[in-house]
Amino acid sequence: MEKADVAVIGGSAAGPVAGISCRRRHPEKKVILIRKEEQVLVPCGIPYIFGTVGSPEKNLIPDALLSNNGIELIKGEVVEIDRDKKSVSTISGDVVSYDKLVLATGSLPIHLPIPGLDKENVFIVKKDVAYLKNMLDVMSGVKDIVVIGGGFIGVEFADECKKNRDANVTIVEILPHCLQLALDAEFCTEAENMLTERDVKVLTSQRVEAILGDNKVSGVKLSDGKELKADVVILGVGARPNSELAEKAGLQIGRTKAIQVDRYMRTLTDPNVFACGDCAEKYSFFSGKPSRLMLASIATTEARIAGANLFNTRCRNRGVIGVFSTIIGERAFGCAGLTETVAKQEGFEVVIGESTAPDRHPGSMPGAAATKVKLIFSKDNGLLLGGGVSGGRSIGELMNVISACIQYRMTAYEVSLFQMGTHPALTASPIVYQLTTAAELAVAKL
Ligand SMILES: Cc1cc2nc3c(=O)[nH]c(=O)nc-3n(C[C@H](O)[C@H](O)[C@H](O)COP(=O)(O)OP(=O)(O)OC[C@H]3O[C@@H](n4cnc5c(N)ncnc54)[C@H](O)[C@@H]3O)c2cc1C
Repeated sequence: MEKADVAVIGGSAAGPVAGISCRRRHPEKKVILIRKEEQVLVPCGIPYIFGTVGSPEKNLIPDALLSNNGIELIKGEVVEIDRDKKSVSTISGDVVSYDKLVLATGSLPIHLPIPGLDKENVFIVKKDVAYLKNMLDVMSGVKDIVVIGGGFIGVEFADECKKNRDANVTIVEILPHCLQLALDAEFCTEAENMLTERDVKVLTSQRVEAILGDNKVSGVKLSDGKELKADVVILGVGARPNSELAEKAGLQIGRTKAIQVDRYMRTLTDPNVFACGDCAEKYSFFSGKPSRLMLASIATTEARIAGANLFNTRCRNRGVIGVFSTIIGERAFGCAGLTETVAKQEGFEVVIGESTAPDRHPGSMPGAAATKVKLIFSKDNGLLLGGGVSGGRSIGELMNVISACIQYRMTAYEVSLFQMGTHPALTASPIVYQLTTAAELAVAKL
């Protein structure tokens, strides 16, 4: 039996960060991380294996991340947690005792009940090197690819599948728009136009009813009765919390089927067991209601909180804001917090401020891209509830600035006086800075 002060189960986004946060505060503690994979993928990089990056091996989290932070690694699948004995056991018989345990077992892809899903060349988005390697090999010579699901995973897969591959790619999305759960309709339309421009076919308000073919997929049947040819089908419709191990250990499971935790990431059942990342239940920053958001950025924030709180309570989880971004070709889209649609569904009366300007100045600077910022404020008190953005690559960090403004509960008036730094080659002009302009226009309406 190995003896650890802290055992962490899970080696992707949340697990290592929880271990590192603990070691930064308690360098004397022995942290053992147990994960089932030989090699761990950068989960968010998976779609890029099929285009930009080119192989699973170029999309790995290096094990040096653990060794450089003094974390010991055991490769093996944990099959049992004995909370009385404070130990965990792997399938191959390794036993690790712990003082504190962190569950970071993540999520698993959702399977839809579509007939024919078990046919050859129908793939789900698994975080598994060998599986993705096989998928990449299969995709090398194919002509027709159907992606089921137009959320960010489906959209990224579709866009990447067009790179270095002469294939017809179609997205089938059940909702009226791709990316509808993350963006307001005007951004969804812009994203769909980008996809179409890049020769990806987008079918919305359509459901795949069946996957056709003998052993191997040959096509899909749509809800309107039409059929599409398909050599490969990719199912990218989201994930569910991987909480079975915790449930088996008697830990309380929440409404979203994730492990219930308090604001300090402690499980509700056992103060020595913490959970973070996709396997842990989340609460909305805005309403406090359970949230189904699952993002690596959320996972690592929760892991920092869990890691810091293991031996003393130090950090509190404010709830998930949800900061999301993606890119189609050279056009990027993002949202932080609530969209206008969701804010209204939550009962807020809203005031909108919008501004579009280049993200360099003058606009003739190399790499400049027109960048649109839409800010959503509560009419009642002027608080920033959310922001949607489309533009060039610079929007990735702009989303994070908007998130900071939401997190620290800034009002339209405060955002309008935000003190930014600007440079012609790096940012928008201070005269037409989109964030402050959008806020100032909203102030005028409040
Ligand atoms: C294609 C794709 C693209 C994405 N893009 C983005 C993005 O751009 N931005 C973003 O923020 N998020 C993105 N996400 C979401 C993000 O990947 C997840 O939120 C993140 O991976 C969660 O990290 P995690 O550590 O909680 O869980 P996971 O990544 O699911 O990792 C769980 C870990 O636990 C291990 N494990 C599970 N059970 C056991 C066991 N019994 N014994 C031992 N080990 C076990 C697994 O092997 C794994 O190492 C994307 C997801 C996908 C699938």
